[in-house]
Amino acid sequence: MKEVSRNIPAEVKRILRKEVNYGCPIESCGSPFLSYHHFNPPWHIENHHNPEGMIALCLHHHKAADNGAYTNTQLEECKKKPFLSGNDMLLGEIALKRENILFDVGGNYYLGASEIHLRKNEKLIWLEFDEKGHIMINLEIKDKGGEPIFSMINNDWIISTSLKDIESPPAMKMVKFSDNEKNIRLSIEYKIYSLESFIREYQTIIDIRRIYEIVQSLPKNDIVICKVRGLLQYPFHIHFKDGQTNFRNLKGPFTINGIFKLAEDATMEYFEIKDAFTIGDGTLIK
Ligand SMILES: [Zn+2]
Repeated sequence: MKEVSRNIPAEVKRILRKEVNYGCPIESCGSPFLSYHHFNPPWHIENHHNPEGMIALCLHHHKAADNGAYTNTQLEECKKKPFLSGNDMLLGEIALKRENILFDVGGNYYLGASEIHLRKNEKLIWLEFDEKGHIMINLEIKDKGGEPIFSMINNDWIISTSLKDIESPPAMKMVKFSDNEKNIRLSIEYKIYSLESFIREYQTIIDIRRIYEIVQSLPKNDIVICKVRGLLQYPFHIHFKDGQTNFRNLKGPFTINGIFKLAEDATMEYFEIKDAFTIGDGTLIK
């Protein structure tokens, strides 16, 4: 018989997340930090990844399930009638907090306080400090019509369960969502590097002089990078990719402030930014 890998296929996880409307299905829980439990049959009886015999649960309830807290009938009931509905709001947070974090927003790198505005007085991404000096990320993401769909205030995030996929593993260092109909996807992921692993991954992307400036400002064996990637449609098409950000269909008048050093040009249909960089307090263009 073919051996089944312990790794659960991504598609099975997606089905299980969606089934519970992205929150732990146990009564009164609704935690977005989901893990995946095999119950019918349990993994030690048979190695399988059949979604019908699996359920997404938070770590607390996963542990309880492993220790026999719920019958198969109860778990099947939870799969059919999860705690959250498809119209609820899902609340989560990023647990990771540091005084120094390198932000990598589609090839725009910044250390310290900074803001990205895409319209005057309308922020897209901005950083704040808590009372202990930790950097907290803030985002307001809207759909094409300008309706809010995802918001993060000082690392606490909120999103509607009506989206097509939302993923936030129990490590609380990442949140990812996508919706094909709205043509939107976003991932915010914090990664911890040693000096060696940071240089290995970034030396081909960031200029070596910049790497030197960055490592001067960060603790050597706890280099934290917050990567933002995705495709947004408001206020225009923005694509944050590895090493670059593209804008399309810019219709004026518009202002882009922050480290996106983009000149005002109402007729511009396509603009690409690579390796924009700031260190310290950030450069804001007024
Ligand atoms: Zn739970």
